[in-house]
Amino acid sequence: MTFSNPWFTATLLGVVLLFHLDLLVALLNVRQFAKPLPPRMAALYDEEKLKLCAEYHGRSARLDLMRDSFFLAVLLMFWLFGGFAWLDRWSTALPFGTVWNGVAAIAALLLTRALLALPFDAWDTFGVETEFGFNRTTPGTFIADRLKGLFLSALLGLPLLALVLWFFQTQRWAAAYAWGSLAIFSLLMTWLAPRLIMPLFMKFQPLEDGGLKQAILDLAARLHFPVAEVSVVDGSRRSSKANAFFAGFGRTRRIALFDTLVSSHEQDELLAVLAHEIGHSQRGHVPRHLAVGLLESALLFALLHFALQAPGLYQAFGVSGQPIALGLVFFSLLYRPAALLLSLISSALSRRHEYEADAYAREAMGSATPLVTALQKLSTDHLAHPWPHPLAVALHYSHPPLQQRLAALESSPA
Ligand SMILES: [Zn+2]
Repeated sequence: MTFSNPWFTATLLGVVLLFHLDLLVALLNVRQFAKPLPPRMAALYDEEKLKLCAEYHGRSARLDLMRDSFFLAVLLMFWLFGGFAWLDRWSTALPFGTVWNGVAAIAALLLTRALLALPFDAWDTFGVETEFGFNRTTPGTFIADRLKGLFLSALLGLPLLALVLWFFQTQRWAAAYAWGSLAIFSLLMTWLAPRLIMPLFMKFQPLEDGGLKQAILDLAARLHFPVAEVSVVDGSRRSSKANAFFAGFGRTRRIALFDTLVSSHEQDELLAVLAHEIGHSQRGHVPRHLAVGLLESALLFALLHFALQAPGLYQAFGVSGQPIALGLVFFSLLYRPAALLLSLISSALSRRHEYEADAYAREAMGSATPLVTALQKLSTDHLAHPWPHPLAVALHYSHPPLQQRLAALESSPA
């Protein structure tokens, strides 16, 4: 663990630099509130709303900063005081065999991280979100959500992890097999999530027959979009923030609207939001996003293949020998800056898809107005940042900021 080891230097530098980059972005974003708003946004955010918005973002940024500083300090202390060497000794002494001992080491780390994150999550939900009137979660739901999440990740994630470790333990082309398994797993999850997982967290109820349901079915038929079911989801049990989503492939497509969305929007606006979602589907955004994800993970596994064979990677964390499971953990720390660079590409792609889906919705509705008013409502109700810094957008925004979306919607159609 000295700077003469390039793996040590690269990982430490990456971790510390990313922390400072996030800090810088948070500061720039909060400072945006000191500047005068562009006129289009000033028309939507009155002075009181703007003040509330600045407070909300300031408070959230402070919590993020506290969380990040805490996790950086814990990581550095664990790392520099020989924590990984201790974890290696502890897990090798377990009686489950190399693969499952490795799974236990990673599970112990993940569980510790989840426990350490708990107070921050609770502060976010019952502190910040409650203060600004968004939170509807009870402590009971909060705890149940976390237990269910933990149980599901263990049930689905640990066997996959064991398989990956087994590949690396026994196969020459382990990286390729691991990548293939991950690809199959992600496809399986897109199929499984709406059927088995989401219903564990939310209650799906069929939308009652009536004007809204008929209008939705008419819209879907007009856009040649097969719908098996239209449901309403009890999002209001957790937050007042609203949303709509789709799930499923082929004939079994299921439209789900948050009850909070239904209650706060006119029928035309709901249809426009749905047309936007249908646009994502009809323009093939989902498979394209999946393909980009798979390309990214191909690169990840190729790099992992080389890194795991380098003794220097393990020495950088004070571990002698080359335990594969810990190698995965070390690589995940080393890989962070590369992951950030790749996420620049995928979020830029995602923002482009949003513009395309918006344009699709405008065409489907024959007018930009319903989507414009829906987006305005969603942004101001959620206290979205009216004017985020371009660096924050590039790094963290999967959706373009409201101002740009409105400008695109209100420009003459291409
Ligand atoms: Zn979208």
